Amino acid sequence: MNYYLLVGLQLALQSFLPPFLVEAFNQTTSIDSVQVPSYDVVIVGAGWCGMAAARTLEASGITNYKILEASDRIGGRTQTVYEEIDGEIVALDMGTQWMSGGADQNPLYEFAVAANVSFVVDKYKTNVYQSNNTGLIPGADDDGLDEVFDKYWYYYRNYRRKRRSNGRKDQPLAIVLRKFRATLTDFNERLMFNYIVKAWIGEIEYAAGSEDLSLYTFDEDWRLDDSNLTDSGFWLKDWSAVVNTYAEPIQNKIQTGAVVTQIKYRKASEFARVYYTNDDGEKEKIRAKKVLVTVSLGVLQKKMITFKPPIKKKQKIINRIGMGTGNHMWMFFDEAFWPENDLKSIFGDGEDRDNFAAYYNNLAEHGLYNKPGLMVPHMGQDAQDAEQRFRDSGDEDAYKEEVKELCMGPLRNMFGEDIPDPKYVFVSSWMTNPYTHGIFSFNKVKQKRNDKQNLRVPINNRLYFRGEHTSDAHYGWVHGAYWEGVAVAEEMAGELLE
Ligand SMILES: Cc1cc2nc3c(=O)[nH]c(=O)nc-3n(C[C@H](O)[C@H](O)[C@H](O)COP(=O)(O)OP(=O)(O)OC[C@H]3O[C@@H](n4cnc5c(N)ncnc54)[C@H](O)[C@@H]3O)c2cc1C
Repeated sequence: MNYYLLVGLQLALQSFLPPFLVEAFNQTTSIDSVQVPSYDVVIVGAGWCGMAAARTLEASGITNYKILEASDRIGGRTQTVYEEIDGEIVALDMGTQWMSGGADQNPLYEFAVAANVSFVVDKYKTNVYQSNNTGLIPGADDDGLDEVFDKYWYYYRNYRRKRRSNGRKDQPLAIVLRKFRATLTDFNERLMFNYIVKAWIGEIEYAAGSEDLSLYTFDEDWRLDDSNLTDSGFWLKDWSAVVNTYAEPIQNKIQTGAVVTQIKYRKASEFARVYYTNDDGEKEKIRAKKVLVTVSLGVLQKKMITFKPPIKKKQKIINRIGMGTGNHMWMFFDEAFWPENDLKSIFGDGEDRDNFAAYYNNLAEHGLYNKPGLMVPHMGQDAQDAEQRFRDSGDEDAYKEEVKELCMGPLRNMFGEDIPDPKYVFVSSWMTNPYTHGIFSFNKVKQKRNDKQNLRVPINNRLYFRGEHTSDAHYGWVHGAYWEGVAVAEEMAGELLE
């Protein structure tokens, strides 16, 4: 409708309509609302947090909401790719793989059952190899590793307690790790500890090096975990099927290919404005009483969305929290050359610390895939550099070749130069992906104790930030993202329904 015609109509109506009808007219046909679709809530991002928020709003009776999702699919960092391997289409999870906790603990369990996906009940079990094809580290079975870990844990807890009670500042976890390593006189114990640092404490568990992890808070995910989710769990195949099952009731509210670029949220205005580019490259604008931003911490750190006015205090918090780096690499072989037939095994090269990697054979060889293959969580600077080269060149084959070589190096060291190359290689690229910029968050040294709590406080009750990174106890996990979505939607619904 023509702007001047609309204003004229409004003025004319106001002169003879009763006030309550003028009010109703203004709500539905004011100039802004004619041109700009209005919602109670706009959710930015259709990962687990955004989807859980949407379903919770629905359950509270709030149906006037919309989800804007930048990529052409939903699920965010939960992504399955379907690849042909020896004539068979195989589901490979490039993000989330492990469902923590038992059936009664993980809130997504029921949706995995409804999606009819395959599970393998598992616990981490470890074989750790020496270098130069000389077999396992003597004593490095689960009991041996637990023993070394318990010694470390005792040392670490004392160190941390003393430092805290003396009022000393946080410091990188690396310092206590170095101090403890120096107390180990047994060579094999030192090798086992190398493995523990890499696989249980640092890069593989938290996607971060120990120089970045906080001495005081790095392990809050399981210290604050009152639901005991971290002790056990399931390996799952085809997480995207779980996503699609969960999203079914809200599918029609999701717009994919909608890249949000700016959010304006002036205090004086009743609505925030959300600007985005749709999948035809056109710019669009919508408005909402509340905007929930669920994009990853990495996306926020890279300032991929601009806010007006700027979110200065929140941005400082966002920059203080850590965002982890790494990728998943799947390799399938004609035959298994590793001796483990046991379902529960992880193995790495324990001696060569820099070239240390962990390989999961349990998914590929048994139960879920029935094919000889290894999944490698490929972390650290090498992974980051290789991905950046891929992003610069766009050459996917060269990227796969480079990552394959990086992942095969320690294997050749463990099992000899003659082991075969993989027949199929698939690798993710989460660090340079503009919609993720990293894999999951961690508690970084010098992060403040109340940072997450403050990040969760909405601005003007209009702009909300949530995602796995705002969870105190379950950051880095799908259930963390899910529970953050549920909590914030309950908060928003409470206010909207007041
Ligand atoms: C390799 C890897 C392995 C993992 N393994 C496990 C595991 O085994 N178990 C487990 O529980 N968890 C695991 N996680 C963590 C888990 O996947 C995440 O914690 C969780 O998926 C995060 O959900 P979220 O909703 O907070 O964020 P996201 O999933 O990142 O959702 C945010 C959404 O926002 C969208 N978005 C970004 N920018 C914009 C924009 N400008 N406009 C609109 N939309 C935008 C994104 O595309 C995305 O869909 C893993 C993650 C990775 C990457």
